[in-house]
Amino acid sequence: MAGAHGWRVRILQTSNLHHAGPSHRGPGAPRSYAPRDAEACPLTGLLRDHLDEFIAGCDDDQRPLPRFVDRQLRAITTCGDLTHGFVRLECTSCRGPRVVPFSCKVRLCPSCAGRRMNEQAAHLVDRVLPQVPYRQWVLTLPGELARVVAFDGELSTAVFGVFADELSRWQRERANDLGIADPQTGSLLEIQRFADGARLYPHAHAVVPDGVFVASSDGESAHFIRQDPPSDADVAHVVSRVEQRLTRVLARWRAGRHRDSAHDSEDTDILPVCAEVRPTEFVRLVSQHESEQGRPAPKKPLCARSPGGLELHAEVTIAAHDRKGLERLCRYLSRPPIPQDRLERRADGKYVLSLKRTWKGGTKAIVFKPLDLIARLAALVPAPYLALRRFHGVFAPHHTLRALIVPTPSADSPVPIAPKRPGRMSWADLLMRVWAIDALKCPHCGGRMRVIAAIHDPDAITAILAAVHSERWDIPATGPPIDSPLAALAAA
Ligand SMILES: [Zn+2]
Ligand SMILES: [Zn+2]
Repeated sequence: MAGAHGWRVRILQTSNLHHAGPSHRGPGAPRSYAPRDAEACPLTGLLRDHLDEFIAGCDDDQRPLPRFVDRQLRAITTCGDLTHGFVRLECTSCRGPRVVPFSCKVRLCPSCAGRRMNEQAAHLVDRVLPQVPYRQWVLTLPGELARVVAFDGELSTAVFGVFADELSRWQRERANDLGIADPQTGSLLEIQRFADGARLYPHAHAVVPDGVFVASSDGESAHFIRQDPPSDADVAHVVSRVEQRLTRVLARWRAGRHRDSAHDSEDTDILPVCAEVRPTEFVRLVSQHESEQGRPAPKKPLCARSPGGLELHAEVTIAAHDRKGLERLCRYLSRPPIPQDRLERRADGKYVLSLKRTWKGGTKAIVFKPLDLIARLAALVPAPYLALRRFHGVFAPHHTLRALIVPTPSADSPVPIAPKRPGRMSWADLLMRVWAIDALKCPHCGGRMRVIAAIHDPDAITAILAAVHSERWDIPATGPPIDSPLAALAAA
């Protein structure tokens, strides 16, 4: 049909497909897929309604928004919108149609980030991280250093590279003390640029095996030697070493700063200003002092603060057999700054962002005027050259031990397995793995859907949407997945 009408048709790339939100989770047999309603996403609505006004305001102030920020925020406005294109599917039994909109793949987009988060976590657990115990080490920076690191990719790489290095050095030294020859260490380092409440707050999470790897004498295999958990003194020791080295890194950076400033490709001066925009209201449980930046610093085990204000936390561990727990941690590492279910548009047009954890002072949500929230978002868009995830030591791509230690997924796994290359998991497999949703189950008869084509042409888009939403096949754009009455009869 498509060819006969001269519609432009492309080979399907399932990685471009939009996915449903996690709201359909539940036990039992896999359910069928219901497309997400892009209109219902408050962040998309905010940008559709106010992005142009925000950009015009920046231009009026002679402080234009950097192009990479403009591009990414604008892409979110078209995400999940059927009028910008979709993939067409058809049921092999009843010929019932389905259309699935394209997604924007922008890191800040709540639904695309959600997909990315699940895909990357599946890849890390299936293909990178061996079955050994892990510990999460989190390094946070004092306010002033954090603000500089947030907008300087080179400095960010240097600062967090020192962190990964010092963790590895500490592990190797302990292994050497026990007489272990040539111990090898590794870590997955994830730089997060935000904290709860859409605050700019660069910090790093390192997922580190709680032990070292040693190669056999013939180099054909490697084994893992577990180490004792760190003591409070160990954590304090590591953070003070990181601080000592950072002092030198920062001195070099200050010296080189004036020399290199002419090479900055794009003017990002407006972004630190955007990051400082304050909410208009704090919604509190009890009325106490207002303190957005207040860092809770309860004395917890395995947490230490250096004299210069670096903080290191090492209390979170994952047992070797707990692969689900490891996958959850990996998902947490690449979560979006504003999850879809935390943002709400109030009747007065302001946006309420509820917090994951109640802040000191009892604040449980913060309220922004639309343009102020866009400013906060703009500051959180990472520059395109910024590498936010790094593999160190044995997990680095060319390390000699890497091939010997990475997991090999079993062929008879009950859930879909991530492919070798990250970001290539099919949309249908991902839905099945994370939400147990069968994306290819027909909503009309319970039969199997097959992919017909990806549709980009505006005329074809209009024609197909009209046909799909005709009376016979009209399917709700949102709501719970449709369970076919026929399928229910068949099962009875
Ligand atoms: Zn059908
Ligand atoms: Zn998107």
